[in-house]
Amino acid sequence: MSDGRYADGPTEKCGVVGVSLADRDAARPLYYALYALQHRGQESAGIVTHDGFQQYSHVGMGLVGDAFTEEDLEGVNGSTGIGHVRYPTAGSLDSSCAQPFSVSFKSGSLGLSHNGNLVNTDEVRAELAAVGHAFTSDGDTEVIAHDLARNLLQEDLIRAVKRTMGRIHGSYSLTIMHDDTVMGLRDPQGNRPLCIGEIDGGYILASESAAIDVLDGDLVRDVRPGELVILGPDGAGFDSYQLVDAEHTAHCFFEYVYFARPDSRIDGDLVYDVRRELGRRLWEESPVETDVVLPVPDSGRAFASGYAEAAKADGVDVEFAEGLMKNRYVGRTFIMPTQDARERAVRLKLNPISDVVTDRTVTVIDDSIVRGTTSSQLVRLLRDVGAEEVHMRIGAPPIVAPCYMGIDMATREELIAADEDVGAIREAIDADSLSYLSIDAIAGALGESRADLCLGCVTGEYPYDIEGEATDREVSRPQVGDARAEATGDD
Ligand code: 5GP
Ligand code: MG
Repeated sequence: MSDGRYADGPTEKCGVVGVSLADRDAARPLYYALYALQHRGQESAGIVTHDGFQQYSHVGMGLVGDAFTEEDLEGVNGSTGIGHVRYPTAGSLDSSCAQPFSVSFKSGSLGLSHNGNLVNTDEVRAELAAVGHAFTSDGDTEVIAHDLARNLLQEDLIRAVKRTMGRIHGSYSLTIMHDDTVMGLRDPQGNRPLCIGEIDGGYILASESAAIDVLDGDLVRDVRPGELVILGPDGAGFDSYQLVDAEHTAHCFFEYVYFARPDSRIDGDLVYDVRRELGRRLWEESPVETDVVLPVPDSGRAFASGYAEAAKADGVDVEFAEGLMKNRYVGRTFIMPTQDARERAVRLKLNPISDVVTDRTVTVIDDSIVRGTTSSQLVRLLRDVGAEEVHMRIGAPPIVAPCYMGIDMATREELIAADEDVGAIREAIDADSLSYLSIDAIAGALGESRADLCLGCVTGEYPYDIEGEATDREVSRPQVGDARAEATGDD
């Protein structure tokens, strides 16, 4: 945990899906749903299905389109299944961590797709290893699978899941297959999204509603924090079990700011609307009158349109223009081995349209500053093509601490705001002015109290009990051994 990148094992921000259908193979709907969730993970993609007799699995590296051939898809049989796209994080560039995780136990076959990150993996793994479980990866998902398999030897499915929830601590949105039964499970504080949809001939569970849309389905509702949803066989409805209640939720605000698709609806809010509202609030909190407002594509676009709209509503004549062009074929700049490589990648990725910028004052809007690479490069590029003034406006508060809950935010040493104040960051990126959005504006735009959000990366106080970090609420990680003993006496 020392470098802050890992709590216990690699952090994972991923996409999960599960379907149960009548008389129809699950593979293709799962495949399309994974395409819709591609932004949540590009390292690997996988599908596990069950045809009532046996489990089938295919996991491939790379983008969804590269991970499956036609033959691969034809090989995963059955009308129930789950899928996963995995986000690339440092040190995980191999297939041992690819998902869905699948395994056969005495208690039947299990498949698991996990989005989120446990913070007590090592404790649970050590306890299971002590009673004979052998592990093939250092990931937290395998730990959940083993704990569940062990519980399934002793009790029914619902009690087994509940007991596992009493052992694991952290962030998890899961789709699970037990033999041919598909389930969805969201951690008691609902950190990562998970929703239920109705599609032709059955039901789907997915990280984001955009996956339901691509199947021409209807969003039914979000899976509730602490809820287990079991899809009926042959696509017939679903059952709900509220297994654990927490006093507060810990929704990740960064899903709305950066991570989720703008066309997804999470916990009742359309992400696009939230981003535009954040943009409007950004104008209210820190208006600056310039000739033109430029979004950093693609993540800054909705913020910038909200910002420019609010400016116009205030009678300020500002042009909203696409003055930065993005090369779609350049890979991610975010996780690059060296700062030099990251800078070069930003230059390849974004090119200013000089006619929009030259001899004008500009406001550049992005969703977030992590290391500061993008902002400082952009300010320089815009000055190079003759911008008179460059003002930066950021749709999130300063990111001061790492994420342990599944978004790869780098380490404290790499976070520019971890030990610099806004004035120093402005100087470092050489902008004429710099403002971030307040935490209250985020809570206000989401219509949630601060107590119901995970704000760990912007406050340094987490909604989970993480070794060596502060918490903003009364939570404690389950004690090894105790929870099992306690749970045994439970209903
Ligand atoms: P920086 O260049 O300051 O290190 O990162 C800021 C940029 O990275 C912003 O444009 C933002 O959209 C993007 N960003 C923020 N969080 C993430 C993330 O978790 N992954 C990736 N790929 N980009 C991110
Ligand atoms: Mg961006």
